Amino acid sequence: MHTQTIELLSAAPGLRHTLTVWHFGPAQGPKATIQAALHADEVPAMLVAQQLRQQLLQLEAEGLLRGPVQLLPWANPLGLGQHLLGSHQGRFDLRDGVNFNRGHADLAAAVQERVAGRLGGDAQANAARVRGALAEAAATLPADTPAQDLKRRLLQLAVDSEVVLDLHCDGEAAMHLYALTPQAALATELGALLGAQAVLLATDSGDSPFDEACSRPWLQLQQALAPHPLPLGCFSATVELRGEADTDHALAARDATAIIEFLRRRGIVAGTPAPLPAPLCEPTPLAGSEPITAPAAGVVVFHREPGARVAAGEVIADLVDIETGAIQPLAARSAGLLYARSATRWAAPGKRLAKIAGTTLARTGKLLSP
Ligand SMILES: [Zn+2]
Repeated sequence: MHTQTIELLSAAPGLRHTLTVWHFGPAQGPKATIQAALHADEVPAMLVAQQLRQQLLQLEAEGLLRGPVQLLPWANPLGLGQHLLGSHQGRFDLRDGVNFNRGHADLAAAVQERVAGRLGGDAQANAARVRGALAEAAATLPADTPAQDLKRRLLQLAVDSEVVLDLHCDGEAAMHLYALTPQAALATELGALLGAQAVLLATDSGDSPFDEACSRPWLQLQQALAPHPLPLGCFSATVELRGEADTDHALAARDATAIIEFLRRRGIVAGTPAPLPAPLCEPTPLAGSEPITAPAAGVVVFHREPGARVAAGEVIADLVDIETGAIQPLAARSAGLLYARSATRWAAPGKRLAKIAGTTLARTGKLLSP
């Protein structure tokens, strides 16, 4: 293993932020990038990164890595330092309120320009050209602010990878993950290994989260460059490692082992994969994910736990009016798996209290939480 330290654009003299990248394995071969806690207050991801480090060191010592594996033990040093009046604010940049996992660069058009007229009939050769062009296009991204610099550095590191795993968590949640719809089979495989209870798929969830900035250009280019054959050269997923308080050594070790097994199945780690465990769920469209939203302010009393299968019409939570004492039951419209709920119990109007992976809704527009 060798450690790379990247210095980010400084916001002011005397203010220094650095990004740490642990590199394992050979320089050549199929590449994986795994990063923890892009939303910097999602700490279970950082614990899994520590377990991954141990396992990758062991694999490296045994000569079992077939390609480079990059591990970022904390992907957001800016957010890691953002404490405001006693609470950690890791989701949004305090400079401008922008979500650290939104607005990542879409490189498809720049890559299309770079590879125009240079593709042939060999899908693998085309993929290699596109991979090189992605790295070139990422290298030219501008940055005016520390957060933009962070975003471009992360993309520069990851964009030529075959596998990108962005490790997050939710407020209180069952294991779940997000990926691209045409990669449902790989998402199902990763979900089966991790014991995911929801796998949420979209071709464009809106606002360009990091995982899609890595995987979606391949889908866009596959369509734009036809009839030249091009595989989807990068599988990327956002992995939600349960809830923000779910830091447990045994769970973290199990999650890391599942991730290593996924890399083994991709040929990045040598060895024969174990039989795939039965998946705990079928993938569902992100457009079918139902947010349970507070219609008014009040105290939240949940009736169902993360991981619960709920029926259409079932009450998920009560909202208690603190002037009148009136109790307003909040019911699910769709049947599905309650995969996440808020970690706090006071609702401001419009607050998303819970999320249900269903199949009957067809939401449009931006599909992720702000
Ligand atoms: Zn997150």
